[in-house]
Amino acid sequence: MRALTISSHGGTDKLEFRTDLSIPEPAAGTVRVRLHAAALNHLDVFALAGLPGITIQPPWVMGADGAGVIDKIGDGVTSIKEGDRVAVNPGLSDRTCDYCKAGEQSLCVRFRLLGEHAPGTFAEYVVVPQENVRRIPDSISFETAAAATLANLTAWRMLITRANVSADDDVLIWGIGGGVAQAAMRIAKTRGARVWVTSGSDEKLERAKALGADEVINHRTTSVGKEIRARTGKRGVNVVIDSVGQSTWSESLIALGRGGRLVTCGGTSGAIVQTDVRRLFWNQWTLMGSTMGNDAEFATVTDELGEGRLAPVIDSTFPLSDGRKAFERMANGEQFGKIVIRISE
Ligand SMILES: [Zn+2]
Repeated sequence: MRALTISSHGGTDKLEFRTDLSIPEPAAGTVRVRLHAAALNHLDVFALAGLPGITIQPPWVMGADGAGVIDKIGDGVTSIKEGDRVAVNPGLSDRTCDYCKAGEQSLCVRFRLLGEHAPGTFAEYVVVPQENVRRIPDSISFETAAAATLANLTAWRMLITRANVSADDDVLIWGIGGGVAQAAMRIAKTRGARVWVTSGSDEKLERAKALGADEVINHRTTSVGKEIRARTGKRGVNVVIDSVGQSTWSESLIALGRGGRLVTCGGTSGAIVQTDVRRLFWNQWTLMGSTMGNDAEFATVTDELGEGRLAPVIDSTFPLSDGRKAFERMANGEQFGKIVIRISE
């Protein structure tokens, strides 16, 4: 089969498009998806560079997000049948630990991700547990489904499950060019929240306004925390959605008002941050982490998409054979929305 692979970690020059991989067979309880589309996430760039504690077996298939058609099912599969159109949930859990039993699969003690710990979606076929696929209606294209899943799942858990955003909230979202940030904005808007977004590009801020952003700030030219304090009469925002980490953390906390909630799902700029504990208790902040989502959240976001809500902006589409160009676009931060890889028609 055709696939975008790596044999060692590093930059985009390590990516190899291959046509000689064998097609995986579905074991009991798993399904094989013939992928039509996949989508990139920042995660893929990190997986390419190499993550601590993860060793790959060359040729390693990259990719977390994907959508396609069920092509073959393993023994004991009852929830899905051959020919079903599906979106793939990239989070793999053992379904036996206490967290899984409690329905919190993304807290699984053996949580893994497609493309990082298991062969990924930048290939003609992927095998996943039957719980990791959910049907999508004919009205949703494979490109849209692939682009939506990880971003909507991650953002849903951050905004709804963790921060419980409502119409009373002002929400600050960093880096509105990214997929998770845009999903967070869409979800916050459906709850009636007032949404503040940042970007280093005025053009991206204009596009975000057109998509419903209430307040925009160029973080390259403006001190975000100070600006928010000024525009809110010193009150600050109720919720901050931060996936940038080191370079935004202190500004996030300047922007965060009393009783505020900060949710982080990543540290793309660096991992170690500083928090003044006196401000934490005095302001009665809640600082939260969030990773991917559980089975119930996967079902919810996939059904929301199927009903015509939470559709992602697609920035660009590349054929699988040009996957390296897709990675370069992501690594350079040029995109506004999701970068999609088309695998087959
Ligand atoms: Zn588990």
